[in-house]
Amino acid sequence: MTTTSHIRSVRYVKTFDVIVVGAGPAGSTAANVCAKAGLDVLLLDKAVFPRVKPCAGALSVRTLRLLRVTGVHLPNSIIERELFGIQLIGPDLKPVDIYSNSSLGCTIIRSRFDHYLVQKAVDAGAKFLDGHRVNNIEWQKSHISCHTNQGRFKGRLLIGADGIGGRVARAAGLRGSFDPGNTGIAIEADVLIPQEELENKINTNLLALYFLNIPLGYAWAFPRRTSLSLGIGGVANELKGLPRLLHIFARLYARQTGLHIPPLRKIVGHPLPATGFKQPLVANRVLLVGDAAGFVDVFTGQGICYAVESGILAGRTVIKAIHNQTFSGAALTSYSKIAQRRFGEELRVSRSVAMIIHNHLYGGFRLLRHIRSLNRFVQDIATGQTDYYRFLRNPLKSLGKTLIAEIRARFTCQRGLR
Ligand SMILES: Cc1cc2nc3c(=O)[nH]c(=O)nc-3n(C[C@H](O)[C@H](O)[C@H](O)COP(=O)(O)OP(=O)(O)OC[C@H]3O[C@@H](n4cnc5c(N)ncnc54)[C@H](O)[C@@H]3O)c2cc1C
Repeated sequence: MTTTSHIRSVRYVKTFDVIVVGAGPAGSTAANVCAKAGLDVLLLDKAVFPRVKPCAGALSVRTLRLLRVTGVHLPNSIIERELFGIQLIGPDLKPVDIYSNSSLGCTIIRSRFDHYLVQKAVDAGAKFLDGHRVNNIEWQKSHISCHTNQGRFKGRLLIGADGIGGRVARAAGLRGSFDPGNTGIAIEADVLIPQEELENKINTNLLALYFLNIPLGYAWAFPRRTSLSLGIGGVANELKGLPRLLHIFARLYARQTGLHIPPLRKIVGHPLPATGFKQPLVANRVLLVGDAAGFVDVFTGQGICYAVESGILAGRTVIKAIHNQTFSGAALTSYSKIAQRRFGEELRVSRSVAMIIHNHLYGGFRLLRHIRSLNRFVQDIATGQTDYYRFLRNPLKSLGKTLIAEIRARFTCQRGLR
């Protein structure tokens, strides 16, 4: 099914309420929210959909919950594997498996997932044009003009959802290139493995995270239906020779699991922008969302969750602005404030969390093996159910709670045994 709407005849004439540049999860979510409210929405992407996107494809329950807010319920055809736990492997290569009774999220393949979200935005009434690269943006008195490789479009407001390279952010003067001190990096390879072999050799409901000697980062093996995402990510500047490390990790993973992993051919990835709220997110008639806004947790590498949430918040701000006919940067700042309240703190502390964990890897893994209730806490962080900044804000209280839960659990367990 094609999602491209044919609106070539209205070019140069019609002024859209909002033009969304970039049809990743942030852009399609914003387009969906605005179109559902009856706005006239144009969604543009330079790529022809479905397009490939380097990503491990892990969605937390929090992301799935946010998607449901926009009326998006992922069908089984999009879900690759449902997740019920994580496997943490420390420097001694001994795994700690943490299971849950309820689903912790799922894995997906980005080309299909992103295309599905675009279709949802189109179903809601948005016009989608793929193969349209925005090259230039002009601010007029009553609108913004978006110049693409295939023509010009006018909008009252513009949402920049164009990812790490963010042309909208640069044109609006909101940021230049990303500061390496506030950037992570992640690379991955998609490795095809027969479904039967995968299911025989590994637990396909677990995400495997390897904390080896990777400075401020980790390696992962995430299961899909007939493939694995093998990858490495961490804080940029600290990671040198990433592809070589990924080859070494693939060999180690093959030895540990007994899977036949062919030599990695296509390794892809890109920086993870983590400037977040250090730079402004809105300007005259413009709002930034997702990676374009710098909303990535450099420690866990999660960005889809923030892309969807910022898409929802920006969409709601646009609806209000169109209703009140107020388009200045000042009128749009409510978006920055709400986004900061919702997830500003957790993004701010993600780098510190990476440092704490990596400085205490050996001790941390020993604790994990002995204090079972810590497992639940780690699981919640990895799957986005806990805002870990809350833990850091009051570590004594949080540790106290964890220890009391542990003592209670052991006490109840011993009584039960007698
Ligand atoms: C290797 C790797 C693994 C990752 N794994 C995970 C994971 O497991 N879970 C997770 O939550 N996050 C993960 N992330 C992060 C996640 O991929 C991003 O945070 C997420 O894609 C951000 O979504 P977005 O909509 O903001 O931007 P994108 O998904 O990057 O979408 C931007 C869109 O804008 C379009 N575009 C760009 N420029 C223009 C232009 N000039 N004109 C028109 N269109 C344009 C692009 O074609 C693209 O479709 C990973 C990242 C990497 C690199």
